[in-house]
Amino acid sequence: MFIELTDHLRCPGDHAEAFLVLLPDRMDGRRVTAGHLGCPYCGWSTSWDGGPADFGGGRRLDGEVPFDAAAAHAMLGIDGPGGWVALVGRAASLAPQLETLLPQVGIVAINPPPPLADGGAVSIVTSGSWPIKTHALRGAVVGLDASEWLPAALVSVLPARHLVGEGTPPTNLGGTLLATGGGVWVAQAGSA
Ligand SMILES: [Zn+2]
Repeated sequence: MFIELTDHLRCPGDHAEAFLVLLPDRMDGRRVTAGHLGCPYCGWSTSWDGGPADFGGGRRLDGEVPFDAAAAHAMLGIDGPGGWVALVGRAASLAPQLETLLPQVGIVAINPPPPLADGGAVSIVTSGSWPIKTHALRGAVVGLDASEWLPAALVSVLPARHLVGEGTPPTNLGGTLLATGGGVWVAQAGSA
């Protein structure tokens, strides 16, 4: 994973949001190819060596969203370099194409379908609990298989940025629903 991403990850432990401490073993440019992440609050830790970071309890299911990367790009409304976009569950099948549409934007693929590999602008995290801090993302696209994480994903999106989801938006999601139709919807994060 990219070293900058570690600033935006949170401990999966059942406690208030906490930062994680990175101990890199091996770097390839800005990518930490082997290392450890640990929580100073609860003592949780994980290690990786050559593969993606595994926070434990995540599943990687096959699947695709019913729209393409160009549509996701338009719905995210992101222009210009910098920051991070999360693609969650089967929405991460868009990562290779979205990477070319969002130059110099980091992509964190959370529980992506199995064919996706760590590389390029894409950093993979597998986890059974939401691994991203509050207000850490320029946008997020959440697949239907990960819809239980929609509220958490919206909290992780920066104010006024967009969350894209599949199916019907949850009624108690928060934020502002900007558009819905054709099995996809876009909500805007609030300024709270
Ligand atoms: Zn912890």
